[in-house]
Amino acid sequence: MMIFDVLTLFPEIYSVLSESVLGRAQNDNAFKLNVYNLRDYSKDKHKKCDDTPYGGGVGMVMTPQPLHDAITAIDPERKAHRIYLSPKGTLLNQRHVIRLSKIQQVLLVNGYYEGLDERIIALDIDEEISIGDYVLTSGDFASFVLISTISRYLPGVLGNADSTIDESFSNGLLEYPQYTRPRNFLGLNVPEVLLSGNHKKISDWRLAQSNQITQIRRPDLLSD
Ligand code: SAM
Repeated sequence: MMIFDVLTLFPEIYSVLSESVLGRAQNDNAFKLNVYNLRDYSKDKHKKCDDTPYGGGVGMVMTPQPLHDAITAIDPERKAHRIYLSPKGTLLNQRHVIRLSKIQQVLLVNGYYEGLDERIIALDIDEEISIGDYVLTSGDFASFVLISTISRYLPGVLGNADSTIDESFSNGLLEYPQYTRPRNFLGLNVPEVLLSGNHKKISDWRLAQSNQITQIRRPDLLSD
């Protein structure tokens, strides 16, 4: 069973992961989520975990002591793959997700304020991952994304394992358009081919649609 250890300043917000697909997956022991409060490891009398940056500048930086002590206590034998969620990290894509889904234990370290003291990254972090070219208020939102996307590849999480085979990015393309009942909705019809029962024609149409939408919206995927 995969283990996600999460180091956060806001443990209570992880209750959102007890809902829906991810909640069921945890109940079914598809993965285990351990959430740790960084403040519990601070030796500061006010449990502070941040301080002003050397060299000046705006904002606060996360102090090394609570982070190092927490990471060492959570993962004393350095068994976990330790990831710092950071806008400066490698950009997450489906290939990385599949790679990470094969790891037994992942420790997600969240940043706040202006981020971590660089020495923690040097000492305690194996990999920095960004979920996109924008800046979030905290690493927690990136951790949600990582847990959500990795867990889809764990045995037993999705009702139908084929869901990860025929979807956007799985074959390097965006997914074709999907339709369900009714056949006509407010004057818009479902494409005839999908009603034909001809599987070859349907899969050809879907591939053509995938190619077209990828060409228009994400031509970068086609040159990967
Ligand atoms: N000063 C940092 C910079 O310019 O690179 C941004 C710090 S951000 C306000 C606070 C925290 O949010 C970061 O330490 C990181 O953990 C998280 N974060 C922000 N954007 C992220 C992204 N695109 N991917 C992953 N984590 C992100």
